Amino acid sequence: MNRSEPSGYREEGKSKRLEEREVDVIVVGAGIAGLSSALHLLQLNQSVCLLEKRSIVGGLGNYAVGLVTAAPTSLQRKSNISDSVEAFYRDLKTFSEKNGFTDLNTAHFLREYAGKSGKCIEWLMELGIEFGGPIPEAKGQIPRRLIFLPSIRDAILKMRDRFLEMGGQLIYNFHVDSLIVSETAGIDGVIGRNNERISRRKKCKKGVILSTGAFSSNAILIKELIPSGDSGDSLVPDLNGDGIVMALEHFAATSNTDIFPIQLRFTGQSDESGYISSRNKRTGSSLPNTDFEYLKKFALYTSPSPSLFRLGGILVDRSGNRFSDETLDLRYVALLANHLPDKETFVLLDQRIATELDKWPNYISTFPGKGYGYLSDYRQFENEILYLANDLRELASMIRAEPRVFETNIEKYNVMARSGKDLEFGRKTLSVLFTPPFYALGPVKPVLTTTVGGLKTDTNCRVLDGQGKTVPGLYAIGDGSAGAVQLLPGTHVGWALVSGMIAADYISKL
Ligand SMILES: Cc1cc2nc3c(=O)[nH]c(=O)nc-3n(C[C@H](O)[C@H](O)[C@H](O)COP(=O)(O)OP(=O)(O)OC[C@H]3O[C@@H](n4cnc5c(N)ncnc54)[C@H](O)[C@@H]3O)c2cc1C
Repeated sequence: MNRSEPSGYREEGKSKRLEEREVDVIVVGAGIAGLSSALHLLQLNQSVCLLEKRSIVGGLGNYAVGLVTAAPTSLQRKSNISDSVEAFYRDLKTFSEKNGFTDLNTAHFLREYAGKSGKCIEWLMELGIEFGGPIPEAKGQIPRRLIFLPSIRDAILKMRDRFLEMGGQLIYNFHVDSLIVSETAGIDGVIGRNNERISRRKKCKKGVILSTGAFSSNAILIKELIPSGDSGDSLVPDLNGDGIVMALEHFAATSNTDIFPIQLRFTGQSDESGYISSRNKRTGSSLPNTDFEYLKKFALYTSPSPSLFRLGGILVDRSGNRFSDETLDLRYVALLANHLPDKETFVLLDQRIATELDKWPNYISTFPGKGYGYLSDYRQFENEILYLANDLRELASMIRAEPRVFETNIEKYNVMARSGKDLEFGRKTLSVLFTPPFYALGPVKPVLTTTVGGLKTDTNCRVLDGQGKTVPGLYAIGDGSAGAVQLLPGTHVGWALVSGMIAADYISKL
């Protein structure tokens, strides 16, 4: 199997004259949700056309750390972790309710997810996809998070390859713009364009599945759909919620978008630095050697863990000023960071704290290919995300801060830390930063990594309108659909996989 991806419009698949053939199902978007659904459909003897606007499959999954929360799984059993669908459902529900999602529809989804996530993992393992874990969790939580090995990118390519081997049709650089509706069948096709902007149509017999992802870079949708919204920068460009926009034209409703999902992420200075290949080498992934812009942006993009602050680290702007009690929920800290003038912050540590970042539970972030990342893992990103210096002035110049101002402000912090009272933000425990070398991790920026919620569906992933009636022939899965399970870490990829499976199961019975 050729593992590289095309740079121009191309069709793949064993069937000949695919363009003319009417398929059972059209899947729009070859991210993880689209790949999962398309592959399940083929395995259920449906003919499928998978349309992807880019020349690369995997969508946002290409950026993902690769954690997936699922239960019960054979990997849990192997590690003697006892779990059940019921226990998983209870935990998902508690978490969801804590975050304000209490409607009945949400509960149905959580039940579906709890019932199917474990099966989805076993299905992926049958495809030859490997996992590590479950990785350790905080006390009282059942370990359920698995990590794709050697990388999630590898799993994406395995899914694509299997889809093509089974005769699925994949069309790259097909940007779907609108849906075709017929009076008798409902939605039964799409209209789009290739990268020469030539218009193309594709028809289907049973329905169109929208798996076009989140709307984090669509300012209009953010304003409309997230009442608590704030202006936030999208981590990844071009997450436009195309499927939502198209479905709204057919009176689709949306739900569960109420959470403004801004997060702190290490963004690094990685674009031109060959970071793709260093990540590739580290995970052993077979990332194709492509000059495609989208992958140029492919970086670590992890979130700093609360352990950094529990151990005494602080979060400062380039002047060395703190702006929050860093031990609060980091989602709240992210919102505060979003109001800083340049939004760029750094985690500051000294050697005493840094030496503790060597094993669970003292991790820097979650990490591709292994679950958690420690100081030893971050050393390979020296001068990209990790900076260290023997004095604060030197450190300041490394992160493009003004050395004198930076040092003065950290010294002021140290005076306060010695007194044991955080007069600025009321943090309960403070550590004096005095043991060299000093470390700065960052820049850490508040960004929208993805969005929560989207098109309202029933539990078969059929899109609903404002009256609760189905929009015939239209389905929505993954990011951009309103599963409301995408709150716990690892359930974004999980929901993409499971919702793809649900839609395929339903359609195959029509
Ligand atoms: C840095 C980072 C780390 C993450 N880590 C994790 C993690 O460890 N675990 C986890 O659960 N989640 C993680 N996530 C989130 C996770 O990656 C996504 O939620 C998930 O991959 C979404 O999959 P999807 O298929 O629903 O959507 P997407 O991946 O967005 O796929 C949508 C696809 O549709 C295509 N498309 C869009 N519009 C059109 C159109 N008009 N016509 C044709 N094609 C179109 C896109 O090009 C894309 O390929 C992470 C996200 C980021 C940014």
